Amino acid sequence: MVKISDAINLSCEILKKSLPDARSEAQKLAAFVLKKDTLYLAINKNEEFPCEKLKILKELSAKRAAGKPFAYITGIKEFMSLEFEVDENVLIPRPETEELVDIIANDFKNESPDILDLCTGSGAICISLAHYIKNAKCTGVDISSKAIDLAKRNAKRLGLEERCTFKEADVLADSDFEKKFDIVVSNPPYIETCVIESLDNTVKNYEPRLALDGGDDGLMFYRTITNNISFYLKKGGMLYFEIGYNQGEALKNIMQEKFADVKILKDLSGNDRIALGRYI
Ligand code: GLN
Repeated sequence: MVKISDAINLSCEILKKSLPDARSEAQKLAAFVLKKDTLYLAINKNEEFPCEKLKILKELSAKRAAGKPFAYITGIKEFMSLEFEVDENVLIPRPETEELVDIIANDFKNESPDILDLCTGSGAICISLAHYIKNAKCTGVDISSKAIDLAKRNAKRLGLEERCTFKEADVLADSDFEKKFDIVVSNPPYIETCVIESLDNTVKNYEPRLALDGGDDGLMFYRTITNNISFYLKKGGMLYFEIGYNQGEALKNIMQEKFADVKILKDLSGNDRIALGRYI
């Protein structure tokens, strides 16, 4: 009989060739395959690990060892303490982006803003803002119809479909989102095209290039959104961008003409990460 502890050891052997924290990932993968939590596995380590599930665990461990992100294996990623469905059509929501959502949620928690999230992907920003700002109405836009379908499913699974609307559109070409909003937020693709090849394998081989590639200088979306801002942001409204660690200065320049109180904020690792300003 193969015990839970044996199965974890076996997965760990496969993972440790390429991952630093193989044991903890093996525990999480085994828990996912058994549909239990890791605490259950720790307490019941001498229980049998069913043979057919062992086969699945080995397959998933091999995929993980080859670089497939954990969230694409389980199909789930926690973001802002909410559970989002993710797949290869969308970027996996990042902890840095939680800081962006947190700032907006704090600034507007007692208000009823109309929020537009450009390049919404899984809908993580749009939906978590609807969750944390109880009277917000949120619209998410993305060029990918598969991302839009996924974002809709996420709004539904979190019970927020009544306050979240999604629309398929190309942010670089379309600027008519039916009305003007109080807040525009975007975590657009912002990696310079030539840098993508040097990214970690787990990112460049698995996450959608469409969600990463910000054009030659990485700033294509920031420029277009700022140029088109009069079409979708009310005067006096707020624009919030997530930005790359080296894009603070560039964003100040792009935003200063049309925005007052432009600020560049750092993330918890001390890198530039958020640009914001009030539209004047
Ligand atoms: N807005 C989404 C997120 O933050 C997707 C971002 C993207 O595709 N670049 O997760």
